[in-house]
Amino acid sequence: MADNWNFDGLVQDVLIKSNSNSCCADVSFPDTSRIENPISPIDYITKEFLDDFEIYLKQLGVVEIAYVDDIKEYFMHGLDFDFTSAIVFSYEISQRIHEVGAGAKAQEYNNDLYRDFGNLAYKISDYLRLRGFETLVAHPREETIDFSHLALKAGMGAIGKSGLLISPEIGPNQKIAAILVNIINLPVSENNSYEWIPDYCNYCNLCVRACPNDALILDRKTKTVRFKEKLCIGCSEGCTECIQACPFYKKGYDTVFEKYEKIKRKSKKVIE
Ligand code: SF4
Ligand code: SF4
Repeated sequence: MADNWNFDGLVQDVLIKSNSNSCCADVSFPDTSRIENPISPIDYITKEFLDDFEIYLKQLGVVEIAYVDDIKEYFMHGLDFDFTSAIVFSYEISQRIHEVGAGAKAQEYNNDLYRDFGNLAYKISDYLRLRGFETLVAHPREETIDFSHLALKAGMGAIGKSGLLISPEIGPNQKIAAILVNIINLPVSENNSYEWIPDYCNYCNLCVRACPNDALILDRKTKTVRFKEKLCIGCSEGCTECIQACPFYKKGYDTVFEKYEKIKRKSKKVIE
């Protein structure tokens, strides 16, 4: 049972460990849940419930919602939670972080964003608990879950060269959180229609060039990017250069897809 765990303690431990290896500032965000987990939780959800639930999330400002099961491989730092599935959702990064540029102010805005999104996740979790579901919030700032890969499995988008999830709605301009649950019939995604995105990234590499700290290192032979977490100032100074440079953010999904199709047509002609 989730209530028996000292989850705060686990997270604190994770933050200390992760911060010793990265540049991320040690900020903690308290659990603002108001509802306890139910003593006899239910594990089945109806379509009507999910429809209402999604409307509620959209009203709260959530951009995308997806569902995923078999989540254990996404737990980080050796953590193990007694939950089988997750509700994954995204929240848009506010424009003011981009406008102010990396530094103390951007980081302050970044922390505000994590606090607000985290509180929203606890509110959503309370909504579920109140209706009989057992939950555990994976806070967007805490390194308990590999959010990008969890969202990838949930079919929310693809992972770009920046290492960030690119979604059709807002490209890489988002934070991701999850609520872990034990619901056996969530409508999990069976396929991902964004598999073309990593191929497009091979023609782009704009995020690599935009990174002010050489945290994204491109291997030209393999076309892969190595992320040097220690050099990244995204979570210590609110840097968002790799997001701002991304055409999925600047021009939108449809425009990039059209460009990709043109590139493919041209390269096909060259081969012929
Ligand atoms: S957040 Fe900034 S430092 Fe980190 S990878 Fe992106 S551009 Fe580079
Ligand atoms: S900037 Fe270009 S290479 Fe980087 S994630 Fe976006 S599309 Fe991919």
